[in-house]
Amino acid sequence: MSVLEPVGLIGRKRDGGELTAEELQAFVGAYLVDQIDDAQMAAFLMAGVIRGFTRDEAVALTDVLLRSGGSVDLSGLEGPTVDKHSTGGVGDVTTLVVAPLLAAAGCQVAKLSGRGLGHTGGTLDKLEAIPGFRVDLDAGQLRSQVERVGVAVAAATTDLVPADKRLYALRDVTGTVADEALIASSVMSKKLAGGAQHILLDVKTGDGAFMAGRDDAISLARLCVEIGAASGRRCGALVTDMSQPLGDAIGNALEVAVAVETLQGTRRGRLRTVCEALAASALALTGIDLDEATSRVQRHFDDGSALEVFGAMVDAQGGDVRVVDDPRAVLPAAAVVHGWSGRAGTVQRIACRRLGELAGSLGAGRRRQGDTLDLSVGIEITARVGDVVDGKEPIVLVHARSDEDAARVLDELDAVVAIDDGDATPPELIIERIGIGT
Ligand code: URA
Repeated sequence: MSVLEPVGLIGRKRDGGELTAEELQAFVGAYLVDQIDDAQMAAFLMAGVIRGFTRDEAVALTDVLLRSGGSVDLSGLEGPTVDKHSTGGVGDVTTLVVAPLLAAAGCQVAKLSGRGLGHTGGTLDKLEAIPGFRVDLDAGQLRSQVERVGVAVAAATTDLVPADKRLYALRDVTGTVADEALIASSVMSKKLAGGAQHILLDVKTGDGAFMAGRDDAISLARLCVEIGAASGRRCGALVTDMSQPLGDAIGNALEVAVAVETLQGTRRGRLRTVCEALAASALALTGIDLDEATSRVQRHFDDGSALEVFGAMVDAQGGDVRVVDDPRAVLPAAAVVHGWSGRAGTVQRIACRRLGELAGSLGAGRRRQGDTLDLSVGIEITARVGDVVDGKEPIVLVHARSDEDAARVLDELDAVVAIDDGDATPPELIIERIGIGT
């Protein structure tokens, strides 16, 4: 690409023009070999964020990112290959429940996950709370474990979608993360590189979500599904509520405990409801009628088969399998636990993002990439909007390294969990289904 071409191309985007797939391929390709510098790429990204990218540009960009590296080869596996992805939230431990459910239902699940950053948790960090659990599997180990157990959850290898890593780092420091097409192409390029033929997305909306606005989340979900379809995959999405924590815990070991208790059937509630819907929707993508898929999922909860698969996965990845029977005896425990009961009344509102940040401030989350976590700490919360509470029974438990850390969080809880005398309507949990059951 000559020196003048990138400048002309940035100018066209600045003026609201649409670029062809070939132009995007050339521009991003040149960036990856340092023929275009960060300043030019940042100008291009900002022009696109302000002017908007078209659907075709989003599809083309996804393809460019995908082709920048290798892909996981899942061809020839017995059973449908299925992947799920959540856009992230607070107490969102769905992967640990949904992946074994799908494997128990005969799917092949090679799930590549990430680490937590900011107020959202990361699946790899959570799994590493299980003593001995290894998340670094090479491509051969990943495939052979999926063949034997039906499921593996591992870290993405560095050869997958390297362009996204570079672009994301630049977006992060140039105010260009929050763009629908850039997010969709980033998410979908990684999902497509993961190799599954069936991809289910869980796009979160609400204060604790990355994409807080409901319409924005629905639009993002639609675009992701269109990109998946344009690449020949069966793709669907649920848009689900993240205006309050999903599971009853925020923090790595605590979330694993909640996931296991959900698989055991001893813990019901919003997490289980969303996991059932996600697993049934993913099965529906493989051609099973949605009602039939829903009863299969319930059966795999009830007969313990999903829990058994979870145990087999933990065993295969070197973890302590006793976590399946008695998670809290095996997982790391915080030095102190303090309860909070609030006042009597009805829970009106939970500041979800702030609660995630508070768990992070105890040591459960990272402010910057590379920060070390304390896997034992976090916050358990059993009440949700609309629940009537008596002001005596603790509804929040703060698991902390010290009394001082716990006190700092307890001091904020009155503002974070609003309890009042009036009624409150619980928010709708499953907000939209896209491409499911059709
Ligand atoms: N998550 C991703 O993987 N990419 C984005 O651009 C935003 C969130």
